[in-house]
Amino acid sequence: MLICCNAQFSASFSYVLFSFKNSYRKIEFGICPHCGCLKFKDYRWRPAGEDKEFCLTGKKALQKLEYWRKKVNNIKHGTKGNQNVYYGDFQKSRLKDENGNPIFLQLRKNFNGQSEIIGKIKTVIRKEM
Ligand SMILES: [Zn+2]
Repeated sequence: MLICCNAQFSASFSYVLFSFKNSYRKIEFGICPHCGCLKFKDYRWRPAGEDKEFCLTGKKALQKLEYWRKKVNNIKHGTKGNQNVYYGDFQKSRLKDENGNPIFLQLRKNFNGQSEIIGKIKTVIRKEM
């Protein structure tokens, strides 16, 4: 979510650049529905308490969005393969847990189509008391 005019609004574009157990980074871009201002946010999280974010407004926000769009698109198409950029993804596996619910594999992918399984997530169903 982005903030402008004392209100939150949804981003028009967002990329999760990586999502691991010990780090998370996401960029968001959107236009304020109240004043039409361009907003960009780069958010990073680490469990060690390093919670960083920086925001840009106006022309600078747009420039930063273009920078990331080019970067992400280039990497996706493999023209400038950067092996160090990963993004988080989930894949439904054929495995099922003891209750018959599907187990999701937590994947770490780079934009060259390589992926690595970093964990398994079970579907959790809450039972009413
Ligand atoms: Zn605004």
